Amino acid sequence: MNIDGHTRLLGLIGTPVGHSKSPAMYNYCFEKYGLNCAYLAFDVDMEHVEDAVAAIRTFNLQGANVTMPLKNAVIPYLDEVSPASLAIGSVNTIVNRGGRLCGYVTDGMGYTGELRRGGVEIAGKTVTLLGAGGAASAIAIEAALEGAKEIRVFNKRDAFWDRALANLKTIGEAAPACKISLSDLDDSEALRESIAGSDILTNATRVGMKPMDGESLITDTTMFRPELIVTDVVYDPEETKLLRDAKAAGCRTFDGLGMLVEQGAASFKLYTGLDMPVGEVCDAIYR
Ligand code: NAD
Repeated sequence: MNIDGHTRLLGLIGTPVGHSKSPAMYNYCFEKYGLNCAYLAFDVDMEHVEDAVAAIRTFNLQGANVTMPLKNAVIPYLDEVSPASLAIGSVNTIVNRGGRLCGYVTDGMGYTGELRRGGVEIAGKTVTLLGAGGAASAIAIEAALEGAKEIRVFNKRDAFWDRALANLKTIGEAAPACKISLSDLDDSEALRESIAGSDILTNATRVGMKPMDGESLITDTTMFRPELIVTDVVYDPEETKLLRDAKAAGCRTFDGLGMLVEQGAASFKLYTGLDMPVGEVCDAIYR
C-alpha cells in the first residue's frame, strides 16, 4: 500500500477493537481495487463519542464503521440516518458525503445479501427468527423493508423481551406490509407450528457461540424439513450445531461468516460504490 498526501482514511470506532478483522478486510479490498485509501481501528469509549464523530469531520474521513458500545450513541452527532437505523436506533456505518455524515446499519443487509448471494430473495418469505437482540433487530428491519411477508420472532422472556416488543412495534410502523409477531421461545408447540409454516428459520441469538457452542435452540430435529432454509448469525464456530443438524435433515443452510462479510461488503459498497469479492475475502481474511 502506497500512502501519500492524497490517501483517504477510513476507520472503525468502538471498544474493544483490537481483535477486529475489519482493517485487514477493507485494506485487502482497497489494495485489490487500487484505491488510495487506508483503514485503521480506533479505540473509542462512550465518553469520547462526540469527539470521535467531530474527528471524522475534521480529518475528512471517507467513512467509518461503528461497533459496540457506540452504535446508538453516534446517532445524535450525524447529519442523517437511514430508515433502518432510525427504526432500530443503530448505526454501524458512517459515510462522509461531502461533509455530511450519513448513518446506516448494514448488519441486516449482510443477512439479506448472504441469502441473495445464494440465490434466495427475502421478498415474499415467511421467517421464523430466534432472538430479539441487536443482530435480530437488524435482520428484522432489513428483511421487512426488503419485502419479507411475515417475521415471527421467538425470544425467551428475558431482559430482551420488553425492548423487543417496543422494537417490533417500530419495525412494524416502518414496514407496515410485513406482518411481525413476538412469541415465547419456551412455547415449543408455537415454535413447531411457526417453523412448519416458514420458508426460513434463522438463529440470531448467542446460542451456538462460545460458551454455548455445541448447543442448539432446536432440540427436536423433526422440526426441520428439506424445503426449510436454515441460517445462523453465529460465525464462531462457522458451522454451529443448528446448521449441522439442519444439514443432516436435508435443509439448505447459510452460516454467520457469510453474513459478517456481506455486511462488510454492504459498507464497502456505501463507501466506494464497488462490490467486495465476498468469497475471496472469507478465505483470505477469516479462514
Ligand atoms: P444481543 O446481546 O444483542 O442479543 C442476544 C440474544 O440472544 C437475545 O435475543 C437473547 O434473548 C438471546 N439469548 C442469549 N442467551 C440465550 C439462551 N441461553 N437461550 C435463548 N436465547 C438466548 O447479541 P447480538 O449482538 O444480537 O449477537 C447475537 C449473536 O449474533 C452473537 O453470537 C454475535 O456474535 C452474532 N452476530 C453475528 C453477526 C454476523 O454478521 N454474522 C452480526 C452481529 C452479531
